[in-house]
Amino acid sequence: TLKGKTAIVTGSNSGIGLGVAHELARAGANVVINSFTDRDEDHALAAELAAEHGVDVRYIKADMSKGDECRALIEAAGACDILVNNAGIQFVAGIEEFPTEKWDAIIAINMSSAFHTTAAALPLMRAKGWGRVVNIASAHGLTASPYKSAYVAAKHGVVGLSKVTALECAGQGITCNAVCPGYVLTPLVESQIPDQMKTHNMDRETVIKEVMLERQPSRQFATTEQVGGTVTFLCSPAADQITGTTISVDGGWTAL
Ligand code: NAD
Repeated sequence: TLKGKTAIVTGSNSGIGLGVAHELARAGANVVINSFTDRDEDHALAAELAAEHGVDVRYIKADMSKGDECRALIEAAGACDILVNNAGIQFVAGIEEFPTEKWDAIIAINMSSAFHTTAAALPLMRAKGWGRVVNIASAHGLTASPYKSAYVAAKHGVVGLSKVTALECAGQGITCNAVCPGYVLTPLVESQIPDQMKTHNMDRETVIKEVMLERQPSRQFATTEQVGGTVTFLCSPAADQITGTTISVDGGWTAL
């Protein structure tokens, strides 16, 4: 049980981050959820999570594209036993056409944010002699696809940062690992299915299996609950000696 621990999950008002927040709260942790939006729905979501799991949940606004806001998120939370760096965006274009501002935004949100939050969180973890840093990388932290230069570079960078964090904290009760999901069924992915069905003139099942999950040998999406469960496992005593490595949740993608 994670009772009494405080977990901060960046980019957690939807998708995988929200799934991770649910699973950590289910395991008893108090949770801070985050995005850059600060809408009424974001605060309502925190209240819903708290009521469902009987833990303390707060929403804190911070823009993960800005280093000082990343650090301020950890300070505002006041405690950080578990840090899950999840915020991320995607943009698809060939290298010659890739807009520089998209490159900079992806590197900042998907990679540099984890550096800033980790730098701010480690002193709090060291003071307690216990901590967990879990970085949500991707199958694209281990393999590449064309037209995803910034995303693949950032995710490989996150895997590297996870190793360095692990080494700097080794033997101090603090571990750091990267979880590498394949294709996960999030609202964003779900919303692409109708368009893909039209484009390929296929039914739902066929477009999922033949087009969207072409690289995922299981031909099944991973779920946000499964990614959240993997993060929760990494926070358990069984994972005390698991550090500086990656865990894939990808239906066999990286075995191919
Ligand atoms: P999503 O779009 O549902 O969630 C992204 C989250 O990041 C949202 O909560 C959003 O509010 C937040 N966010 C975006 N920009 C932000 C900013 N500047 N500051 C703060 N928060 C910001 O996407 P998702 O699929 O849940 O992705 C979550 C993470 O998982 C990302 O790092 C993504 O690269 C990774 N991932 C996703 C998949 C997949 O198939 N969905 C696969 C592998 C890895």
